[in-house]
Amino acid sequence: MSGGLNRRIASTLESLRQRDRFRQRRVVEPAGPGLARVAGRDCVNFCSNDYLGLAQDSRLLRGLDVPGSAASALVTGYSPAHAELEEALADWLERDRVLLFPTGFSANVGIVDALLQRGDLVACDALNHASLIDGVRLSGADKRIYAHVDVGAARDALAAPCEGVRALVTDAVFSMDGDIAPVRELAIEARRADALLYVDDAHGVGVLGPRGRGVADELSQDELPVLVGTLGKALGTAGAFVAGPAAVIDYLENRARSQIYSTAFAPMTARAALTALAITREEAWRRDQVRNLIAHLHARLRSAGLPVPDSPTAIQPIVLGRDSVALRVSDDLLARGFLVTAIRPPTVPEGAARLRVTLTAAHTTEQVDGLVDALATSLLEARVA
Ligand SMILES: *Cc1c(COP(=O)(O)O)cnc(C)c1O
Repeated sequence: MSGGLNRRIASTLESLRQRDRFRQRRVVEPAGPGLARVAGRDCVNFCSNDYLGLAQDSRLLRGLDVPGSAASALVTGYSPAHAELEEALADWLERDRVLLFPTGFSANVGIVDALLQRGDLVACDALNHASLIDGVRLSGADKRIYAHVDVGAARDALAAPCEGVRALVTDAVFSMDGDIAPVRELAIEARRADALLYVDDAHGVGVLGPRGRGVADELSQDELPVLVGTLGKALGTAGAFVAGPAAVIDYLENRARSQIYSTAFAPMTARAALTALAITREEAWRRDQVRNLIAHLHARLRSAGLPVPDSPTAIQPIVLGRDSVALRVSDDLLARGFLVTAIRPPTVPEGAARLRVTLTAAHTTEQVDGLVDALATSLLEARVA
């Protein structure tokens, strides 16, 4: 291998280790809804995005057909299960059509790059997901980052001079803070500026809104022509989709490179996602349970004298500041039977390392009580140490 590259790898790894930034995956075994086994130890899993508790629901295994796709969708990878899933999603979200993508990351990269080009202007929330950032970069459009969830700043960003197309791109729910973008106000600004509104609702689809449709419960297709959602979070499976007007979907089917040049996700995943979607539509109690647990967590944190996250969603960040503190508390919680990962920069800003607690319909109030008790003890010890 190249000597220069060897040195680059060694110095990067060394620097990551020195700064407590070295990351490693650990094997996490499913151990029942809301539970996980880590290094032979059972714990309550408070860091999965399985908001409705469907990822380990055995009903999703029913009627599974062939495992593989063996081609991209435009060749032979588009199965009856994929077609049915696209129709079911379009019907649920009240959109003309839906196009599936292998993952949410590839969806955002491929769609932003296909829609925008050099000479266009794109206003982006400062905390947008990495995949949106990469899509914008690849497109060559002029990027204007506005202050997080600041509608006035978004309006100013859209007003910059531009000869081409204008667009506003945002997450609906911000994945590390759990707060929600002011989508109605942003839709008004986009309309005023004759700009495309593009919303990534990875954490809202299935959980938020009166009917559980996330941002689609708030904005029509007219107001929001490009709605991206994922199947790997509340819908408990894997893959992603974009929903919108027929012409936009036709265009993306012809122009989104990450869809055209990538193998479609497995037909059995599409089949499982169809079951997950049916359960999501029928079992509203799962969303109620998430809402109850959020209120319960807030009440318990408050009475324990701990900071209460300013988040109305299942994502509840406990910001601790220093990386080493976040890591130590996370390790300590694991020893007490609670799996909560520490999130460090560059995923979050410097000095804002945190525990990212996620609540799901598979959790109980007793488990949340246990988490708050363990957290209070761990934090006390971390501060004394
Ligand atoms: C998780 C996530 C994605 C990526 O989706 P995957 O299907 O996991 O690749 C995209 N956007 C946001 C906001 C996310 O949280």
